[in-house]
Amino acid sequence: MSNSPTNAPAARAPMLSTAEALATLLGAASPLALADNGTETLPTLDALNRVLAADVVSPLDVPPMHTSAMDGYAVRVADLVQGNRRLAVSQRIPAGHAPEPLAAGTAARIFTGASVPPGADAVVMQEQTEAIEHDVVFVHTPKPGEWITAQGADIRKGSVILPAGTRLTPQALGLAASVGCATLDVARRVKVAVFFTGDELTMPGEPLRPGAIYNSNRFTLNGLLRNLGCEVTDYGIVPDKLDATRATLREAAAAHDLILTCGGVSVGEEDHVKPAVEAEGRLAMWQIAMKPGKPLAFGAVRRGDAQTGEAFFIGLPGNPVSSFVTFLLFVRPFLLRLSGVTQVSPRALSLRADFTQAKGDRRNEFLRARVNPAGGLDLFPNQSSAVLTSTVWGDGLIDNSPNHAISAGETVRFIPFTELLY
Ligand code: AMP
Ligand code: MG
Repeated sequence: MSNSPTNAPAARAPMLSTAEALATLLGAASPLALADNGTETLPTLDALNRVLAADVVSPLDVPPMHTSAMDGYAVRVADLVQGNRRLAVSQRIPAGHAPEPLAAGTAARIFTGASVPPGADAVVMQEQTEAIEHDVVFVHTPKPGEWITAQGADIRKGSVILPAGTRLTPQALGLAASVGCATLDVARRVKVAVFFTGDELTMPGEPLRPGAIYNSNRFTLNGLLRNLGCEVTDYGIVPDKLDATRATLREAAAAHDLILTCGGVSVGEEDHVKPAVEAEGRLAMWQIAMKPGKPLAFGAVRRGDAQTGEAFFIGLPGNPVSSFVTFLLFVRPFLLRLSGVTQVSPRALSLRADFTQAKGDRRNEFLRARVNPAGGLDLFPNQSSAVLTSTVWGDGLIDNSPNHAISAGETVRFIPFTELLY
């Protein structure tokens, strides 16, 4: 603060808005597929939840021919318009069989999914007909195209059915299979190393010493990373010594894209993560104007001599709700961007607040809330960043602007967990 004329407090990290922090993170993350040719080809059946590395272009029309959408009779509409209600049945076309052209003045018995014969321009459902010997009598005059699914009605040959950057849902796999794709090019999984610091942390299954707490974040973060399809190496609790922390960082950097830690990024924190990252790479300590959350560290750790480049580093705050929320808002889109996903921001809903929060906070709040049976939102009564119960009770987060009080009945921005956890 050498230029400061006043006795301002010692160098404090500047306050970033949530949007500024996210923009900086995303600006640094380029897709691994571009960076290191990180793609692989998988059987379509094994590609669930992976990210497409290349457009899927349909090599055919779907359906590949005009098909019948009903069990009934294929006709030339003109034959019925002319007043003739009774036609001879000239062929029978089950699904999967190639039809003959439809002889003028006749009908073809046809079934759902079967090819419409050349010459026919409508299908009359069997409920609107009466079969008499080898003929059929129609009680309905169809319009051209009736009950015919046109060739290419779903997909046109040559069209992009799934663009690169799509996350492969079950229905996306079905769509790829419907055009005959047996394999798909996908981005390789993002490799993430995690570790935890704090002398108070104990693993479930071990007795809790006085002053100790369980390492709940280890479980939350592992689950979050696995939901996103990452390849996770969990180093557990790293002893709070500079050399040990540096050694873990070096080892992790060599084989991972991102090193994620939890705890020890608050102002005045005494642990060794910060100096260790600074010694092995570079680190920016951020203060984000958000609640819960606020401190976040972003940097990189150099790789050893034989390799090039560096692994990203993100240090999350230790408070369980803070680390959960900052993961959802920052780490998730960062990881998605690394794997080449186009749509990285969660889709929010506008919902009615069924509660009042008389006082706004200076920071951008992310309130744990739940959708009630009336379609409005209820607020979890304790919004402390240490109360993990709120994250299980809630269905998502209300994104409340700084200094904004909420009145019952007001519409708020709600981000469901379903948009944030996957
Ligand atoms: P810190 O960010 O290290 O100052 O930690 C803030 C709070 O979060 C403290 O109460 C820690 O005990 C708690 N905490 C830190 N790491 C974890 C963890 N892995 N699991 C649960 N609580 C944690
Ligand atoms: Mg700590």
